[in-house]
Amino acid sequence: MMNDAVQTMDAGSAQPGSEAPMLECRGVSRNFTVGKGVFSGKKNLRAVQDVNLSVKRGEVLAVVGESGCGKTTLAKMLLGLLKPSSGEIFIEGEPITDVDIRKIARKVQPVFQDPYSSLNPRKTLESIMSLPLKVHNIGTKEERRQMVEDIMAMVELPKRLIHSYPNQLSGGQRQRVAVARALIMKPEVILCDEPTSALDVSVQAHILNMLQDLRDEMNLTYVFISHDLAVVEHLADKVAVMYLGRLVEYGDKANIFSNPQHPYSQALLDSVLTPEPNKGIPEIALGRGFPNPLDPPSGCSFHPRCSKIMDKCSIDSPSMYDVGDRKVECHLYN
Ligand code: SF4
Repeated sequence: MMNDAVQTMDAGSAQPGSEAPMLECRGVSRNFTVGKGVFSGKKNLRAVQDVNLSVKRGEVLAVVGESGCGKTTLAKMLLGLLKPSSGEIFIEGEPITDVDIRKIARKVQPVFQDPYSSLNPRKTLESIMSLPLKVHNIGTKEERRQMVEDIMAMVELPKRLIHSYPNQLSGGQRQRVAVARALIMKPEVILCDEPTSALDVSVQAHILNMLQDLRDEMNLTYVFISHDLAVVEHLADKVAVMYLGRLVEYGDKANIFSNPQHPYSQALLDSVLTPEPNKGIPEIALGRGFPNPLDPPSGCSFHPRCSKIMDKCSIDSPSMYDVGDRKVECHLYN
């Protein structure tokens, strides 16, 4: 079957003698059983379905899509916080199901959207940034202090702030602390979940430029979960467009931005997304709202909103096809 052929190829398996991808998903799915109430029974939520992608060392992959498309569930699986229901995730060729969560944490570190809620308000910056080192038994107290000072210099936080508390900092400084806390473990991959959307526009650019500089200095690999297409365009090498838990288009950023092929990617790039739950693409772009993930449409799950719908779209699920340099899951390319 076409899909299987694409999956095998897309999984990006390392050829003999070649370097394994830094991160790789092969046929990754995650389901949840959702109880709706005493009388309404339980439903199966297919949050992520059959995702295949790979990220090379030093690359920036952006995962984009509306709220509820499965990007946060995918991020949690990449961090080892959730196990896939099926399929497998690999870090440098090693399946993460075989890896201890603490070992994953040394390789993949998150930076979350809201530095207000992700930093403990009762702890000083020194305590916040040295906590991962303590948890992993790295260094003496003095050595940890030195590592905190070094990492503060890297993220351009003044040393005098080391005994400050998060509420004494600006939003941009707090996000620098969050980045420093992620970097202090010297991870290979930083998973950024909307890292700048809680910040003022003027501060966003500084944080994004800093992330770009750090990537070059430390040869980091980034996975960006973002609704902000301007950020994605600025930073990403590759883009994965998700819709209702499925990857619908996946390829080089420049090509997808200049010439999107999937009707959903086309609508997405014509619009401005919002991170707020239940607010998807503006009505003007698609005419109909985001469907209920607990009751997804038959066939191609995008068909009720698609401007290019064909007869078979409401009946048959499309396979993933190679379209030039990218993958597109749509009957138009059969
Ligand atoms: Fe539109 Fe059909 Fe393609 Fe789905 S498969 S995106 S409904 S054309």
